[in-house]
Amino acid sequence: MPSQVKPISLTAAEPSPRYQLDIGLDAPTWDQYTSEIASFAPPKIDDTYFRIKTSEKVVALTFDDGPVSHTATLLDMLKARKVKATFYVVGNMVRHRPQMLRRMISEGHEIGNHTVTHAILSKHSRDKVKRELQQAHDQIVAATGVAPKTMRPPGGGITKEQKKWVFAEFGYPTIMWSCDPMDWKKPGVSVVAQRTIQGASPGGILLLHDLHKSTVDAVPTILDTLLGQGYRFVTVSELIAMDES
Ligand SMILES: [Zn+2]
Repeated sequence: MPSQVKPISLTAAEPSPRYQLDIGLDAPTWDQYTSEIASFAPPKIDDTYFRIKTSEKVVALTFDDGPVSHTATLLDMLKARKVKATFYVVGNMVRHRPQMLRRMISEGHEIGNHTVTHAILSKHSRDKVKRELQQAHDQIVAATGVAPKTMRPPGGGITKEQKKWVFAEFGYPTIMWSCDPMDWKKPGVSVVAQRTIQGASPGGILLLHDLHKSTVDAVPTILDTLLGQGYRFVTVSELIAMDES
């Protein structure tokens, strides 16, 4: 177990002038904001998490591409069960619902960066990728006062080289997933629930999309079944801090 609170260090790379000038990146990060976090393990320079190694029955539930109107219903479901999740929000959605992000933070959830326009990063230039991440970062900070700590590339599209400099410049590890129930294909509420429950394993990262109402409708079954199996839900930063590898 990591023994102390330790923000991500950027000493592995020269901080860019852009970083030094940008006040948004000096905002308190999520793990500094919450008192529930006892420790944080700094990831490696090019680290990417699909899951973590642990024997504990713990998973991170992640919701991408919002916020949308029924994200409020999802937050009610999580609150009723005292479950914490991580939201990979899209900047263009944040603009319309900054109050939804404030609610997420106030209820103990974590917010991650999922770009401004949901761009597939591997298809774009360094300048474009930087703009996508920087603007989304700034929108999240403007809405909540809290800086995102991790990013998820839309569609999982990111190169190894991009991951390295994204970490060096933004301090974001790349967060993928261990379970993808393909909810965005809308296979039906019960199928989404069944695939997610079957895909859960200790240390796993579960990928869902609050963009789709049918996914939100599957959440009560997912939560109640996994809680009944003894699973505990943590945010992505909490999960990373538990990594035993
Ligand atoms: Zn997405």
